[in-house]
Amino acid sequence: MMKKQQLTIALSKGRILEETLPLLEAANIIPAENIFKSRKLIFDTNHDNIKFVVIRATDVPTYVEYGGADMGIAGKDVLMEHGGKGLYEPLDLEIAKCKLMVAGLTDALPVEGRMRIATKFVNIAKQYFAQQGCQVDIVKLYGAMELAPIMGLADRIVDIVDTGNTLRANGLEPMDFIANISSRLVVGQPALKMKHKQIQPIIEMMSEAVVNRREG
Ligand code: AMP
Repeated sequence: MMKKQQLTIALSKGRILEETLPLLEAANIIPAENIFKSRKLIFDTNHDNIKFVVIRATDVPTYVEYGGADMGIAGKDVLMEHGGKGLYEPLDLEIAKCKLMVAGLTDALPVEGRMRIATKFVNIAKQYFAQQGCQVDIVKLYGAMELAPIMGLADRIVDIVDTGNTLRANGLEPMDFIANISSRLVVGQPALKMKHKQIQPIIEMMSEAVVNRREG
């Protein structure tokens, strides 16, 4: 009998993880211990050839691109910012849905000349404003983007919006829509070639779980 190949799946820490595990469970891939109660980075599963690595969302596309993991789950925002090189995106998991928006202070006046944009999504912001024919300066931040317009650091922010409560609580409002976001299953180019037989049924089972969840 042919030996089963090792398969590593990179999972994003944080809010996506809780919604991800039931979809993997539907494909009969279950962690051997409680991921939330452990500080480990690598987890065994109920298959001796399948492992999870649990890492920062922004590192998932990098791991998968370079074959450090065979497949992974990451938000579309993270994938757009990464650029998607070397990654296939066979399945929208329809979890952790939100929107990427341009936002600014409520009643902010139109800006004359170059706008300054604060964001952690530097590449997405560059591309979006270029498409709009808008010249902007981009300031990279790592969190609490809402603070930037209040403190006069930026005219607008590019950020993730779900309910809009965080914006409103800080005197900001959504202004322009950039993209709908949800979590995606990604597969690296090497894995797609070498481990296709192993990966295909997993994609199919997860896809079924997504449909059931949608219709459930
Ligand atoms: P809200 O106040 O509901 O608009 O949520 C806004 C904040 O929650 C954002 O600044 C994000 O940091 C975070 N957030 C909301 N939805 C998501 C998501 N699907 N993925 C990652 N972060 C999110």
